[in-house]
Amino acid sequence: MTKLTGTCLCGDISFEADGEVPVMANCHCTACRHSTGSAYATLMFMKQDDVKVTGTPKTFQHSSDAGTTMTKHFCENCGTPMFTQNSAREGMLGLRAGIINEHEEFSPKVNVYTSSKMKATILEDGIPAFEKMPG
Ligand SMILES: [Zn+2]
Ligand SMILES: [Zn+2]
Repeated sequence: MTKLTGTCLCGDISFEADGEVPVMANCHCTACRHSTGSAYATLMFMKQDDVKVTGTPKTFQHSSDAGTTMTKHFCENCGTPMFTQNSAREGMLGLRAGIINEHEEFSPKVNVYTSSKMKATILEDGIPAFEKMPG
């Protein structure tokens, strides 16, 4: 069990999570780079039921390259990207690791979409990297 807490920059939205984190990943896809404004997204996927959100994030939906519906959750007031959902992974919520107070818990196990990573991003040796999303 991993207990995690976090807030957006202004504090309007916060969350508490308690449960397994089966997926920890860095995603270098173009949508993650644009929606986070970062070189890549840091993601901790948990069961949505294990995450209690206080406040109401604004959402934005777009299609992934696989044709699934992606939903981004962010603070309407300060713009902090907080959560992401993929219609192909029903019931799972991706937490942006950068907003988590217990950030020492984040240890990515995989890099995905390295085909669209920024040139300047150096990948850590010793964790697998995939050009796209591994099947
Ligand atoms: Zn905020
Ligand atoms: Zn991505």
